[in-house]
Amino acid sequence: MTDEALHPFGPHFGFGLYVHWPYCARICPYCDFNVYAAKDRDPSLLVEAICADIRAHRNRMPEHGALDSVYLGGGTPSLLAPGDVERILKAADEAFGVKPGAEITLEANPNDVMRADLAGLRSAGVNRLSVGVQSLRDSALAFLGRDHDADGARASVAQAMRVFRSVSVDLIYARPEQQADDWQNELADVLALGMPHLSLYELTIKEGTPFGLAVGRGQITPMPDDDQADMFELTQDILGKAGLPAYEVSNHAMSPEHQSVHNLIYWQGGDWIGAGPGAHGRVTVGGHRYAYEAHRRPEVYTANVQALGSGWGDAERLEPNAIAQELLAMGLRPASGIDIARIEAVSGRPVSREKIAVFVDQGWVTFDQGVLSLTPSGRLLADALTAQLAS
Ligand code: SF4
Repeated sequence: MTDEALHPFGPHFGFGLYVHWPYCARICPYCDFNVYAAKDRDPSLLVEAICADIRAHRNRMPEHGALDSVYLGGGTPSLLAPGDVERILKAADEAFGVKPGAEITLEANPNDVMRADLAGLRSAGVNRLSVGVQSLRDSALAFLGRDHDADGARASVAQAMRVFRSVSVDLIYARPEQQADDWQNELADVLALGMPHLSLYELTIKEGTPFGLAVGRGQITPMPDDDQADMFELTQDILGKAGLPAYEVSNHAMSPEHQSVHNLIYWQGGDWIGAGPGAHGRVTVGGHRYAYEAHRRPEVYTANVQALGSGWGDAERLEPNAIAQELLAMGLRPASGIDIARIEAVSGRPVSREKIAVFVDQGWVTFDQGVLSLTPSGRLLADALTAQLAS
C-alpha cells in the first residue's frame, strides 16, 4: 500500500470532476444556486475556459489517476450542444484520463430532454441522465416556476430511459400545504415511470430568493418541521417497499449499480475537481486536503482563466479538525456509514463512545465493527447527530 493510500481521505476513495454550467432558460423562485439567465449567450468562450481550467488542475495534481466520474450540473447543462459536452469530456480525458465505464452524468430539464439530441449526448460520452422533474402535479410545477408540465415530465423520463442505461429523477416535496395522501399518489405516479434512481429533496426556502421574500411578506407559509418529518418518513417507507431503498438521506436506487458514483465520492471522502463558475473542489496533494471555489461570475471566471490560466482563487489548506468534521458530516449520509477510525486518524482524538452508545440506544445509529451508520429514523436527525459527535 502506498503512503497516499493510507490517508483517511483522498482519491483512493474515488476521484471525480464536477462541471458547473451556470445558465438556465429561466430562474426558478426557490433556487439559490449560482445561476444566470441563459438569454442568447454564445457558450463557446465559457466552454473553452472550463476546458482550460481542467487542464490547469492537472498541472496542480500531476499524480492523480484517471477519473471515476464526471458530473455536468448547474444551472442547466442540458442547454449545451453535444459537441460542447464532447469538448469538455475530451479535455477531461486528455488531462486526467476517464476510466473505462466511468459514470458520466448530465443534469437535464424535461423540456430539453424532448428537444435535445440524446443520441448525440450519448455518443459524446454521457451515460447517465438526471432529469429535473420536480413534481408530477401541474399546480406544483406552476408554483415552483418550472417551464414544463407533468405530461412533459413523464414523456421526458420515458425518452431518457430509451437512450440511457441509468436515469435519475429529481423531485421536490414538503411543499407548502402539500397533503400526505396527495404526495402518496404522486409518488405512485413517479414510481410508475420505472426509473432506477430517485433524488428527493424537501423544499428549502432560502433567504434572498423570491420564495424567501414571499415568506417574509406572508405570501408563502413553509411546511412546519413536524409535518416535513412525517412526510420524510412516509417517503422512506413507500420507496423502501417499492424496491428503491434509500442509500443516502435523499437518494434512492433500485440496485447498487444505479447508485451515484459521483455523489458517493463526496460522501466517502474522495477527491473532486470543480470546474466552471462557482464550482467547489476538494483535492489531496502531498497528504494535505485543499478546498477551493472557482470565481462565481461567469465573465470573471472566463477572464481569469484567459489571463491567469485558471478560474479559481487561492486554495485553502484544511486543518485536521475541519477535515474530520467534513468526513463525519458527509460520511454519515450514505447508508454504508463511515469507519470512525478514519475520523479519529484525521482529528487525532477519539469520537465519544458514550454519545454513540446513547444514539444506538435511541435507535438513531448502528455501530458495528467501528462503522457508524444512521438508521432510517436517524436520517431525520443527520445534521443534529453530526453536530453532537463533532463537538
Ligand atoms: S433550473 Fe435548476 S438550477 Fe436553474 S434556476 Fe431552476 S432550480 Fe435553479
